[in-house]
Amino acid sequence: MVWEERWHPLRREWVVISSHRDRRPWQGETVGDARLARTTYDPNCYLCPGNARVSGRWNPEYAGVYAFDNDHPCVGPESVAPPTLPAGPYRNRRADGLSRVVCYSPRHDLSLAELPHNEIVALLEELQRQFRELSARPEVRHVLMFENKGEVVGVSNPHPHCQIYATNFVFRTIELEADASASYLAEHGRPLMADIIAAEEADGRRVLASRDTALSFVPYFARYAYETFVTPRATHASIATLSPTELDDLALVLGETLTRMDNLWRMPFPYVMALHQAPVDGASHPGFHFHIEIHTPLRKPGLLKYLAGPEIGGGNFLNDTAPEDKAAELRATPTTHYRAERQA
Ligand SMILES: [Zn+2]
Ligand SMILES: [Zn+2]
Repeated sequence: MVWEERWHPLRREWVVISSHRDRRPWQGETVGDARLARTTYDPNCYLCPGNARVSGRWNPEYAGVYAFDNDHPCVGPESVAPPTLPAGPYRNRRADGLSRVVCYSPRHDLSLAELPHNEIVALLEELQRQFRELSARPEVRHVLMFENKGEVVGVSNPHPHCQIYATNFVFRTIELEADASASYLAEHGRPLMADIIAAEEADGRRVLASRDTALSFVPYFARYAYETFVTPRATHASIATLSPTELDDLALVLGETLTRMDNLWRMPFPYVMALHQAPVDGASHPGFHFHIEIHTPLRKPGLLKYLAGPEIGGGNFLNDTAPEDKAAELRATPTTHYRAERQA
């Protein structure tokens, strides 16, 4: 049992860890298991090769990774200037930027965890290309790359894909992390993430997967159950500057981590995965260390972690689980995907 407060050095806020609360009886709503896609191609899927999208455009018969401009962009060049200036202290402006969708594979039924290693590498290479292209656009100040997976995070289409929001503002979490990273480097002379990695490896209990140039772990200060960081060991501001060797190791660590997550409950593990990369706003962001964060809204199969009084009302997280316990659960899972076992 862990009952203490832990400092989140990237967000510079306290997380309350109270794992004894995890055993309290639960009579609230439970959520259904994620549906498994059984067919490699779905004629009604707007992401499958050769199919029509809502915009009337058609996907090509793509064979690998396929990126396209989102048909329902949240930010885009077509956005128009707001017609009126608000009164009082309010401000508004155009939602400028670019929104894209990246399909991982033509296969409708595979998750990122199930992709062969070379296809995960191909995806990371595409994200490198996308970052380089989008970050060079003058209106873009930040490139957010993320995957929402599973119905509990609002995704009903299982076709494996992620999204890119290249925005004219920097997302708040990235701003926080950039500030924390710059202050830490100025004070200690070392990147914050390098010290986090060293602390995680020295402890060892929360490390999930490890290779020469990359690793994954449940951080000491996790806000969510099973919250996981996947990161290169070297400090890069974004994915754009990773070498082929680093990309290869990152793909191995990411694949192994996601496989362990799927194997935990032998169901597709729902998550929000985001690449945290330095802003591209023209300022320097010393010490910013590119990493991937994976958060699941589930505490147990079918049981959601609700954001409530402490989180929504007060703004700090209360984690009902001990990060060491959740990491131990994931470390105990096999590294072969359960669906591959069944096919074998
Ligand atoms: Zn599909
Ligand atoms: Zn982060």
